[in-house]
Amino acid sequence: MTPKWLRLFEDGSARDRALLGGKGANLAEMARLGLPVPPGFTITTDACRTFLSNGGELPEGLWEEVLHALKRVEQETGRTFGDEKEPLLISVRSGAKVSMPGMMDTILNIGLTPTSVVGLSETHGERFALDCHRRLIQMLGRVVLGADGAGFEHAIAEVKAGAGIKFDHELTPDHLRRIILRFRANLAEQARIFPDEPLDQLRQAIVAVFESWNTPRAIAYRRANGIPDDMGTAVTVQAMVFGNGGVDCATGVAFTRNPNTGEPGLFGEYLTNAQGEDVVAGVRTPQPISEMGNDPLLASASRKLHELASQLEQHFRDVQDLEFTVERGRLWMLQSRSGKRTARAAVRIALDLASEGLINSRTAVRRVDAARVEQLLHPQVDPAATIELLAVGLATSPGAASGKVVFDPAEAERRGLAGESVILVRNETSAEDFPGMDKAKGILTARGGMTSHAAVVARGMGKPAVTGCGELEIDESAGLFRSRGIEVRVGEEITIDGSTGNVLLGKVKMILPELQGEVETILNWADGMRRMGVRANADTPADARRAREFGAEGIGLCRSEHMFFAADRITQMRSMIVAATSAERRKAVMALEEMQVADYTGIFEAMDGFPVTIRTLDPPLHEFMPGNSEETERLAEELRVTVAEVESRIEALHEANPMLGHRGCRLGITSPEITAMQARAIFRAAIACIDRGIVVRPEIMIPFVSDEMELKLQREVVDAAAEMVGRTLVTRVPYLVGTMIELPRAALLADRIARHADFLSFGTNDLTQTTYGLSRDDSSRFLPYYVDKAIYPDDPFRVLDRDGVGRLMKIGITLARETNPSIKVGLCGEHGGEPSSVAFCNEIGLDYVSCSPFRVPLARLSAAHASIDSADAARFEPAPLGAGNDPTSKGSASFLAVNYLD
Ligand code: ADP
Ligand code: MG
Ligand code: MG
Repeated sequence: MTPKWLRLFEDGSARDRALLGGKGANLAEMARLGLPVPPGFTITTDACRTFLSNGGELPEGLWEEVLHALKRVEQETGRTFGDEKEPLLISVRSGAKVSMPGMMDTILNIGLTPTSVVGLSETHGERFALDCHRRLIQMLGRVVLGADGAGFEHAIAEVKAGAGIKFDHELTPDHLRRIILRFRANLAEQARIFPDEPLDQLRQAIVAVFESWNTPRAIAYRRANGIPDDMGTAVTVQAMVFGNGGVDCATGVAFTRNPNTGEPGLFGEYLTNAQGEDVVAGVRTPQPISEMGNDPLLASASRKLHELASQLEQHFRDVQDLEFTVERGRLWMLQSRSGKRTARAAVRIALDLASEGLINSRTAVRRVDAARVEQLLHPQVDPAATIELLAVGLATSPGAASGKVVFDPAEAERRGLAGESVILVRNETSAEDFPGMDKAKGILTARGGMTSHAAVVARGMGKPAVTGCGELEIDESAGLFRSRGIEVRVGEEITIDGSTGNVLLGKVKMILPELQGEVETILNWADGMRRMGVRANADTPADARRAREFGAEGIGLCRSEHMFFAADRITQMRSMIVAATSAERRKAVMALEEMQVADYTGIFEAMDGFPVTIRTLDPPLHEFMPGNSEETERLAEELRVTVAEVESRIEALHEANPMLGHRGCRLGITSPEITAMQARAIFRAAIACIDRGIVVRPEIMIPFVSDEMELKLQREVVDAAAEMVGRTLVTRVPYLVGTMIELPRAALLADRIARHADFLSFGTNDLTQTTYGLSRDDSSRFLPYYVDKAIYPDDPFRVLDRDGVGRLMKIGITLARETNPSIKVGLCGEHGGEPSSVAFCNEIGLDYVSCSPFRVPLARLSAAHASIDSADAARFEPAPLGAGNDPTSKGSASFLAVNYLD
């Protein structure tokens, strides 16, 4: 009869992960393969769920099944649980379907009593028996009885100090007896009763594992990692093997390949004469696994370990993280699971396993975590470096940078130009800080979230940034900032790590990623597997070149206004904006047109053969306005009017809420000459490039459209500009005109808008702001709270909000394709560089995503993952009922794929 609440190892397999937990399922799998695994059984997660919903009662019949299974373990080991001479000892281990730190610790040596310690001493030596007993009382006392762990440590330390002993394994039986007495006294003081009855120990341990599912630590971990609360944990009960029985005994952990570099070959550590927890706890320094073969007492076990390691890797088709124990020269396997690895190792291992034929290229691509590929492209703080932490902010733009602290953007620009390494430190940044940001090595701000100005610009430039670092108290006038009681002055060196959010004192040693070749191979494979295109958001020829290097297939967003912030242009730009007469404006526009021709030429050259989406002027005009009196004077001079006159014109442009004001296509509608100028510049640049044999595919994108009339009118302006450049010339430029969908109204009326558009691009930054009615620059005051309290599942500026913004996108796509079936649809927000958002874009049928150049590799990989996953999902879709297919067997097939292939 099969038991209801548990499985003997030999009756389970790796497929039973949900029921037996990862640890239990893989122990069963190893037993099934005939590997040396101490016998045991696993109580199911189902039993745990029932226990929890029962209000903490063991499920009906569970205990009887445990007693019965224990008999089987006794038969296999030839020992009896609770026996006074040759007792069977067991471990009780916890393990959910996914690995979950914060759950209950393992208890070893269960079943030992004051009587059987005596018996065990006679057969296996006094020291060994007492060491096991000491460990049992300590582990069970802490984990099950909830005694303070420090009390135990303290007792051991005192006895060791009294005896002048450094290491645990030097303790004599007398010392151990003294320690045990102190342990018992400790427990008695805390009114805790240690169970000396073997079955009580077992029962209490099982209950404690179940209950540990709901400790605050475990709950917090599940919250943070999106693990469902109703999964429950399994409990594995297993016969002990002893690594602490002498010099021919050992315990250790091993990876089948190096988890840091991915290099092939067994990697790990072992300790002789020790039990499992000693390696992790670091009580002694373990030896490298490569030494094990040199020890004659362990050489045969070492050979066996190598053999089994490669067998397990072949079987699970992935790097395994193994736990083992050697008892009197004989090897026992205690755990096998897929090993955690760095991004660098992940790439190397995926390629190696593929070339060894263990996995196919799809699986290899799927194995590399997209979010972590970015780590490989930026300098990183050397993990071995000593660091002094000043503050922690948001890990906004990856990579690390060291430099001198500078608060003033103009000074940052100057010192940067002079070749100094500077970190620009600001409360927050704005558009006019751009030149300073551009010349800084990194950006640190006290305020602003993951999509603040500083964040977006830094990522766009591929520059390390830490934002929202609320600990910083910046006193610009005093030329310093304070954090954690330390004052850092202008010119002092700091290091920021945009991959972790750490701000460090001084210049810290960095390492440069060197894996270009291997990463490139994986990315090239990924390119062959993805349906969606990947473009970059790039504003300058330099950005465009970088985007190509990272594999972008075009530009999805070129923000033309970013070109206007350069020192030589801003005055012309300002003149255009504050012009009072059309003559004044025409003069400024003509000057800008020449500059734009040069800009676009550079971008088209870099993107030879690929589409370039250029957005016409978008931001509220106040962003361009003079920031100080010096700039106002220069503008007055340029316009040949008085300062007072300039000031009054600026005053007239003032808006209460510029982000929702006179911006985007509204500028182009009221001042068509601006759009016309930009279109002419685009066409002139295009024709000049074509004449030099460059393939140019401009796509002109009208921003902030909320009504089809706006697009219709702007399109007319663009087409008229084409006429002006010369009809015959422009017929050689296959240009497209389209719009951004960044307002809810545009999504809702996409069918009408699509009549005038060759393409649509979801501007999800603004679409998120306008859908939520939330300015992202002001979101940092409450959004972290919302995310922390799980009111929002995520920061919607980072992870696309599928429910709201996503629904608008679906509506928009469906409507647009109704009236214009061949319309191209893309996305050009920060979300284009976030894996789960990319997956969503794939799901709803977008043609491409566009993100900052440094995120292009991530997007290429994410898009491939999305294609692979959706193909797999389709393959394992249960057949419709009645089709003669058993849906459960399909379900387990898909599960198999996840476990064996991923
Ligand atoms: P964790 O999930 O913290 O690794 P484990 O259940 O794997 O916890 O156990 C902790 C340590 O105890 C491991 O080193 C493991 O090898 C060891 N251990 C567990 N069960 C036994 C056993 N039956 N015999 C010997 N050592 C064991
Ligand atoms: Mg373990
Ligand atoms: Mg916008």
